[in-house]
Amino acid sequence: MEAANKLLAPTPIQYLETLPGGQEVFIKRDDLLGFSFGGNKCRIGAEFLEDMRRQGADFMVSYGSRRSNLNRVVASMCKSQGIPCLIISSEEDGEQDGFNAALVDFMGAGRVFCKKDSVAGTVGNTLQALRSQGHKPYYIYGDAHGMGNEETARSAYRKAYREIRLWQEHAQAEFEAIFLASGTGMTQGGLLAGKRQQHGREKIIGISVAREAGPGAAAVRRYAGEGEEEVCFEADYRCGGYGRYDGEIEGVIQRMMERHGIALDPVYTGKAYAGMLRWLERYGEGMKKVLFIHTGGLPLYFDYLNGRMGVGR
Ligand SMILES: *Cc1c(COP(=O)(O)O)cnc(C)c1O
Repeated sequence: MEAANKLLAPTPIQYLETLPGGQEVFIKRDDLLGFSFGGNKCRIGAEFLEDMRRQGADFMVSYGSRRSNLNRVVASMCKSQGIPCLIISSEEDGEQDGFNAALVDFMGAGRVFCKKDSVAGTVGNTLQALRSQGHKPYYIYGDAHGMGNEETARSAYRKAYREIRLWQEHAQAEFEAIFLASGTGMTQGGLLAGKRQQHGREKIIGISVAREAGPGAAAVRRYAGEGEEEVCFEADYRCGGYGRYDGEIEGVIQRMMERHGIALDPVYTGKAYAGMLRWLERYGEGMKKVLFIHTGGLPLYFDYLNGRMGVGR
């Protein structure tokens, strides 16, 4: 079995709190996945490495923002298996490196930067350059436009959905809804594929961390694959876009650490938990049990603390 895969044991589902509206909130601790600080990108990264091995490729190429959790995990998994790795990052205005980028550096991955509007060109050129050096590169998203590798990404949370299904069967309990932070749609799409496969009934509600409703839902549908599921992609809680947050989100982060000792970050999980609370206030009447998936992102919690302490962000 893959070295990275074998560290990914099923994660706990724990009771967390009961909300004023009466809903019991449970949390699935994918932040505790046992490789390089955990998170959903461990499951997804392990699928990419496995797919790469199947294809006989020898050079990993990943893409994401400077602060990407995916890039951290991919760089780390590649290092542990002796696979050379290049990380392409788009440069957002004013965005600086955080702990994820530091780990990418420490793991010895190369870094390439490009503007948001020249990603496809940069990916294409990078792959071409590696081929001309005699490598067989593997690009995690498929082609230079980021299409074609949906099935690999989907399989991660299609499998994780099984853990949730089994828990419900053992506990003889049903979640009416599963909430998560949704970005590229790989995680939510995978969950929807799992739900379809296993005839689940719960709503799977993605709280958008960046994208608007239309394109966001379309991306989720693409990762979900065949089928006519309704996609619940909620874009009302984005707080102005990727990486933006407000006092309400900060309050949720603070309370979660104080009461439960669980770290949420402002970019993904804190924003999503705050969004879930708002959503349940509006639409959650009569719901009894809901599940929040903690998708990880722990280095971003420390970036946040650094900012709070006035250390350079
Ligand atoms: C990437 C990420 C998400 C979003 O997952 P997608 O599959 O891109 O939708 C949520 N939470 C954390 C912590 C992430 O790093």
